[in-house]
Amino acid sequence: MAEATELMNEATGLTFEELEHWMGEHQIPRYRARQVWHWMYRKTVREWDAMRNLSAELRAQLAGEFRLRPAECRALEGISGETRKMLVGLADGEAVEAVLIPAADRVTVCVSSQVGCRFRCAFCASGQMGVSRNLTPGEMVGEVLLAIDQIGAHPDNVVFMGMGEPLDNYDALLKALRILNDGEGLAIGARRMTISTCGWVPGIERLKAEGLQVELSVSLHAPDDDLRSRLMPVNRRYPLASLMAACGDYSRVTGRIVTFEYTLIRGLNDRPDQAQAVVRWVRSIGGRVNLIPLSPVPEFSGEAPTPAAVEAFRTVLERGGINTTVRRSKGSEISAACGQLRRRVCGARGDAP
Ligand code: SF4
Repeated sequence: MAEATELMNEATGLTFEELEHWMGEHQIPRYRARQVWHWMYRKTVREWDAMRNLSAELRAQLAGEFRLRPAECRALEGISGETRKMLVGLADGEAVEAVLIPAADRVTVCVSSQVGCRFRCAFCASGQMGVSRNLTPGEMVGEVLLAIDQIGAHPDNVVFMGMGEPLDNYDALLKALRILNDGEGLAIGARRMTISTCGWVPGIERLKAEGLQVELSVSLHAPDDDLRSRLMPVNRRYPLASLMAACGDYSRVTGRIVTFEYTLIRGLNDRPDQAQAVVRWVRSIGGRVNLIPLSPVPEFSGEAPTPAAVEAFRTVLERGGINTTVRRSKGSEISAACGQLRRRVCGARGDAP
């Protein structure tokens, strides 16, 4: 996989301390760093020249050194006020997806962490195209800024649930989390950020030791190793027992409840006895479950479960003491399954336009 190459330094990839250090190195008063930081993240300006309390000379110097926005909106699907999907263009011509999800009392932004993905989960368009490269921290932060342009406000939650496996791009992810979390900037609380993983155990083990309280969401999708290995090849390397042990440790160390995503597929993983097996796994670590009835995707021949099967599955989980929600995907309406918009706009192989 090619590593991300910064064609130019990305301002959104700097921590505040790094920006301050750069100022010091260039004999610029350090208080200027705070001013720039506020323009970038409180006023979310898109051009250096909009930073009116900086001299023209300093604005030119910054523009010569840093790209202020390393990502741009290339296409937007959906209606304002509803779930919308954005094709995010990157400086080297690549593209990823971000999704804006408004609810009555909050707005969630779902961002990508890699161009494509190497984990090849059965029902995921991103997995079918393989991975081209990791995103930089600046590109991930840039996705959130693009979402703010569209929403007109800071998001309440950020979920790393778009293209890519975030824990497979660990160092860049951690830096992006710290930039998003900075109290003088976007100030998105750690508990309002969710890392979604297919079950990359080494990443879960590292994350638990970071002293961050980010939420962890794990794609489970099957109650036994046989089926899970068929749907999610990562399971061959890290089967359910090792995954659950890592999740249990994460929960104990961070005090966060782990959420398990379970896509219900008719006749494959939606039987009551399979729900019982899910109860045993999830109860053992005090987790909760989010059920997602499958939305039809071209990459996968499975069918949506019947409403009765969804209800029966949920009942077994709840009787087993598992806190359970059912998420109604709008995927079929807006190509929300990750990777589909990019594939449609960029071509079947996922080539950038
Ligand atoms: S579901 Fe996530 S981990 Fe699996 S292939 Fe898709 S992007 Fe990768």
